[in-house]
Amino acid sequence: MLLCDLVHTSRRLAETSSRLEKIARLSSYLERLSFDEIAIGVSYCVGRLRQGNIGIGPALLQAAQPAQAAHHPCLTLTDVDQGFEKLAHTTGPGSAEARLRLLRALLAKATRDEQQFLAQLIQGALRQGAMEGIMVEAIARAAHLPVSEVRRALMLEGDLAAVAQAALAQGTVQAFHLTLFKPVLPMLAQPVSDLSEALEHLGEAAFEYKMDGVRIQLHKMGHEVRVFTRTLHDVTHAVPELVELAQGMPAQTVVLDGEVLAFRVDGTPHPFQTTMRRFGRKTHVATLRHHLPLTPFFFDCLHLAGEDLIDQPTRLRVAALQQVVPEPFLTPRFVTPHLEEARQFFKQALAAGHEGVMAKALDAPYEAGCRGSTWLKMKHIHTLDLVILAAEWGHGRRKGWLSNLHLGARDPASGQFVMLGKTFKGLTDALLEWQTQTLQTLKVAQDESTVYVRPELVVEIAFNDIQASPHYPAGLALRFARVKRFRPDKSANQADTIDTVRALYTRLKGGTF
Ligand code: AMP
Repeated sequence: MLLCDLVHTSRRLAETSSRLEKIARLSSYLERLSFDEIAIGVSYCVGRLRQGNIGIGPALLQAAQPAQAAHHPCLTLTDVDQGFEKLAHTTGPGSAEARLRLLRALLAKATRDEQQFLAQLIQGALRQGAMEGIMVEAIARAAHLPVSEVRRALMLEGDLAAVAQAALAQGTVQAFHLTLFKPVLPMLAQPVSDLSEALEHLGEAAFEYKMDGVRIQLHKMGHEVRVFTRTLHDVTHAVPELVELAQGMPAQTVVLDGEVLAFRVDGTPHPFQTTMRRFGRKTHVATLRHHLPLTPFFFDCLHLAGEDLIDQPTRLRVAALQQVVPEPFLTPRFVTPHLEEARQFFKQALAAGHEGVMAKALDAPYEAGCRGSTWLKMKHIHTLDLVILAAEWGHGRRKGWLSNLHLGARDPASGQFVMLGKTFKGLTDALLEWQTQTLQTLKVAQDESTVYVRPELVVEIAFNDIQASPHYPAGLALRFARVKRFRPDKSANQADTIDTVRALYTRLKGGTF
């Protein structure tokens, strides 16, 4: 298929803000791809190269712009992919000239529209809102499969293109299953503002301490143990105490989900940032282990003794968990249908120094990678994971630093972001320095006071209240917003949605919006 077809589809996606319409347009494009083109087309539609980051910066892109453009579209998807493949393999000292030639040759075969599209694709700046969630639905529609099956396959496989190939070419995604030592994206939780909301929604529920540590997924087969972070990085070398613990567990094959924490001598947990030191790049494991020992708390079991448990209800997965994990390493848990008891448990969690509780449905499957409505988090302060849309240059002591952040919630209907407020609070000098550098690499536009960025950086924002505001597009603004921490572990499509913010507003105001 010709590249111009994709450029046209991409424009048609950007033209509509309706999620359903985007899905329809995308799926009709997918239906027309041949088997060999599926992986390429799917990657480009979500704004990614199949080769990942191939190191083409703005300077190279600029230098490679050909003086001319093709008059008629002739580039195929496969031509483009092969061009990028060559570029990806042309690296190392002395390769700069060859890379420039390759890129210029590729762009010279493109029409003006295609050149523009390729430049945006290379820079990761395609803004058509065709994010992964929309693509999953489009694949399901094109392959006549339930969305939940495609989503599940994606979580187990981790590769959108592979799932799309199976769905579109074979018409089934059932063959994807959990593979030991290949981590799956962890299940996430939705925020609630009150425990009564959790009970209303879930009925009798399991309440667990919500600990503010580092999420880990542990895989064990025989003597071999591997530990992964929530971004699926292998951190086994950094956590020898977890490996030793798992080796002693009475199970040949097991996959566990949990949180690790470092504790102070008084028994209260260190803040997240301190625990994170155990995962630093230049970590001296033995010394750090001595000063900052880690304790894991497991709360889920995804596989035991050759059997995948992902689709099993929570009760059964927790029963499996309790079979293999020694008592001290189980997350404190309490099952109740009663609000008063849940409140007591919440207080107990806070008194022990934790940030709140999780409420979990007893009969729900493990929804890998999803912010499911069967896991609800309730913290003692309100927080939202928002995306930075722009930042303003600071004044006075903050001159030269990007300071005031514009914050947006995800709008699942359009795939865009809705601004909810600004904050420059909660930022240390080190964070200001870091964000100034990082945000400039994401710059898409600027004016005198503000740098506008690709909406990619997720930041956890604490706030006291939500108020109605005519100044912001959703009619809502956060009050007393402050940065709690950056969330490099989360991507923009895992940020909180405007629907969540509206629901929270309704709760806080006791009315509707
Ligand atoms: P958040 O990062 O605010 O979206 O909250 C979800 C995170 O809380 C998970 O990714 C875990 O790292 C963490 N967490 C702490 N305790 C639990 C628990 N009992 N169950 C699930 N997640 C937990």
